[in-house]
Amino acid sequence: MSNFFSEKYKGLTPYAPGEQPQDMQYVKLNTNESPFPPCEAVAKAAEGAAKKLQLYPDPDCKTLTRALAERYDVAPENIILTNGSDEVLNFAFMAFCDADHPITFPDISYGFYPVFAEINRVPFQAIPLREDFSIDPADYTNVGCNVVIANPNAPTGLALRAEQIEQIAVTNPDHVVIIDEAYVDFGAESAVLLTKNYPNLLVTQTFSKSRSFAGGRLGFGIADKALIADLNTVKYSTNPYNINRMTNEAALAVLQNDDFYMQNCNIIQKNRAYLSDALQGLGFTVLPSLSNFIFVKSDRIGGEALYLGLKKRGVLVRHFTAERIKDYNRITIGSREQLDILLREIKQLLEETI
Ligand code: PMP
Repeated sequence: MSNFFSEKYKGLTPYAPGEQPQDMQYVKLNTNESPFPPCEAVAKAAEGAAKKLQLYPDPDCKTLTRALAERYDVAPENIILTNGSDEVLNFAFMAFCDADHPITFPDISYGFYPVFAEINRVPFQAIPLREDFSIDPADYTNVGCNVVIANPNAPTGLALRAEQIEQIAVTNPDHVVIIDEAYVDFGAESAVLLTKNYPNLLVTQTFSKSRSFAGGRLGFGIADKALIADLNTVKYSTNPYNINRMTNEAALAVLQNDDFYMQNCNIIQKNRAYLSDALQGLGFTVLPSLSNFIFVKSDRIGGEALYLGLKKRGVLVRHFTAERIKDYNRITIGSREQLDILLREIKQLLEETI
């Protein structure tokens, strides 16, 4: 740390992203990326945009916003585009939370929420998940402060139904309810259309997972136009050109090929069932996920030992050290070929462990 680092950030523990090793080719099942490359039109669109990089992009992203509004059956005024959904989440903490407007979220959830709270000096309360790792919606009804819930939740993969989200929004009319739908395209119910009825509801999504676009960095928020206007005030006060020219053009091509991406989501759901069955056959406990990952535990090998053993064998999965989940691993649903390699290596590791 330098002598110049601001007092206000000295105590900050930054978010630790999953490993992105550059040294060797792993079977990479640790950061919930899509195993499928983007369609060709997307790469072409990015290449075309690269030829105009001397010019700033459109700060309003008008064309892309219109296309997204059509896709989600809302008006362009109900949408903000951001550099990944991490950015819209941070904007929401900046816009709606402060010392007098604290926030709550589950104790086991996306690790960035406490970091956003700390950097924005927002008091927060983490509400424990039930014993089975599900969220009890009753914990969030009439809760009396802002709320952020990942639905499906991460790293558990468990989801609430839209009517349960509605219950949370309707009982907290004086607080903002943020539903982080980073993984919603893999089988959960979306709350996007509820935003038409609840002016306190903000839904965030991303192209990173279901649209094979993690490297392109496109996220978005959908909400009542007054909430979106507030988020835009924050955006135009920090980084008006947050969506670069290549991302802007490439994401338009993504939307023009949305059927291709939604079919890929179906393949992921089939692969999820395949991997869940196979791991259960090996004695693993597998939570019933609606995401592109599963959260699993074995009685025969610990969470850290499985993570380290697989890494040695060229397969990356995610392990968390938090006490409540240290026996578990989060495994991204890859292609069938990747999953078969994973299963082969797990079987060998279990044999060696006996
Ligand atoms: N929410 C959740 C629950 C996530 O797991 C992630 C991915 N790490 C994000 C939001 C942010 O993803 P991105 O910034 O790539 O849209």
